[in-house]
Amino acid sequence: MTQPDTKTQTIRTWEDDPGQPPAARQPIQRPIPNGSAGPLAVAVAGARPAQSGDYPGSEEFRYWAAVDALSRAATFWGKHLPAGTTWNPDVGSVLEATLDFGDLLNAYYDREGLKFFRHAVAGVTVHSGESPDVACHETGHAILDALRPDLWGAFSAEVAAFHEAFGDMSAILASLEVGSLADDVLAETHGNPAQSSRLSRLAEQLGWAIRQSAPDKVEADCLRNAANSWFYQDPIALPPLAPANQLSSEPHYFSRIFTGAFFEGLAGVFRQQQNRDGAGLVKAGDVMGSLLVAALRTTPVVPRFYAQTAAHMLAADQTLYGGAHVPALSAAFIRHGILSPGEAISMATLAEEQLTAVAEPEPGLLAPLDETTVPGERFGLTDVFSVRVPAQEPRFRVAGAAPEGGELEQVANPERAALSFVEDLFRQGRVEVPDDVLTPAAPVVDGTRTHTHAVARTESGELSLDRVLFAAP
Ligand SMILES: [Zn+2]
Repeated sequence: MTQPDTKTQTIRTWEDDPGQPPAARQPIQRPIPNGSAGPLAVAVAGARPAQSGDYPGSEEFRYWAAVDALSRAATFWGKHLPAGTTWNPDVGSVLEATLDFGDLLNAYYDREGLKFFRHAVAGVTVHSGESPDVACHETGHAILDALRPDLWGAFSAEVAAFHEAFGDMSAILASLEVGSLADDVLAETHGNPAQSSRLSRLAEQLGWAIRQSAPDKVEADCLRNAANSWFYQDPIALPPLAPANQLSSEPHYFSRIFTGAFFEGLAGVFRQQQNRDGAGLVKAGDVMGSLLVAALRTTPVVPRFYAQTAAHMLAADQTLYGGAHVPALSAAFIRHGILSPGEAISMATLAEEQLTAVAEPEPGLLAPLDETTVPGERFGLTDVFSVRVPAQEPRFRVAGAAPEGGELEQVANPERAALSFVEDLFRQGRVEVPDDVLTPAAPVVDGTRTHTHAVARTESGELSLDRVLFAAP
């Protein structure tokens, strides 16, 4: 047990996660975090406790651990986001986390703020907000929503999965803000951070808790592991749900493909550093964060969002770093099927004017998403409802790798992607529907599942289906 801190200038927290019980991890000490220091202010609801009693298991510990984790994520992304970026207007000027929102194994970002939960499993009460991995993942949703609010309501399994991948990438990158973790990871992986480690194993404690009652829902050693071998497939061709050792179009599981490629890219950029030490890994994290942000400023919302984002990252590297990391990133995207070899080659040889266009988006490129109507009777609703379609103009002709070789077909139909995602949501019980909109023959709306989407009436009286939150598992 760490000794009480008498100077009271530091707080105790976890490096990245409490770990799976029986926990052997020791908390680390960090300077008292100041959530309102940066341009993206964060806070934890409730009165600020003294930090003198902040031992694992106490409310004080959970408070300071959460403020520290949210601050890490806000500090990391604050370095890379365009100046003047603010939280989504619905959030307000401060992203506030509520730590004990109820009894669940979950965590939400709902455009009001962040919600964390507690649940007792096998004698251990798991507080999701105590894990920096979980807290930085949820903060990641808020960061991406600040940068690209149009992704929130885009009906596309791949776009929704990218939001989840961004949360996991946020957890990975923000944990490098804790200098000691980078050293630990290099020691654990013998200098090869592409291997499975504390950095790649996300939310070990929450994963353990879910594993006790639903072992097929999580990976063997954590919730999701970024050191993985997932290869891209068109989500339309995948089942909406599968055990964690298979691929499905469910966004959390599908997110692992992009996170896996990103993690391998991070290791590749690390290998290019002059000093392959902890500081070198932190530097590689900054390169990857800057490329993600630069790409996402201008990546249009299209069904093949992974390939389009990867292409924009390669273009951004040519603009920001003279293409220094293009070979490492290309190898990672090719290995995970996000780009075909031919697509990566075409991206490495862009003309000057194409690079300029990526750096400074032409007006109208990221136009508001068109809507389409879906027949309600298919799902037992009284009327048609509208959803937003991922139909912005693609900039690069990239579609991802075909398993047999070459590329997938270039034309991915945005409307088909949207309808497939709608059906996934209804099949998985993710949609809340008001009683007066349900027909007597409607299949039971599952009240036991977390509803990520809801049908509601617009001002003109028509029905619309939209997102209400991102949930953790
Ligand atoms: Zn999430």
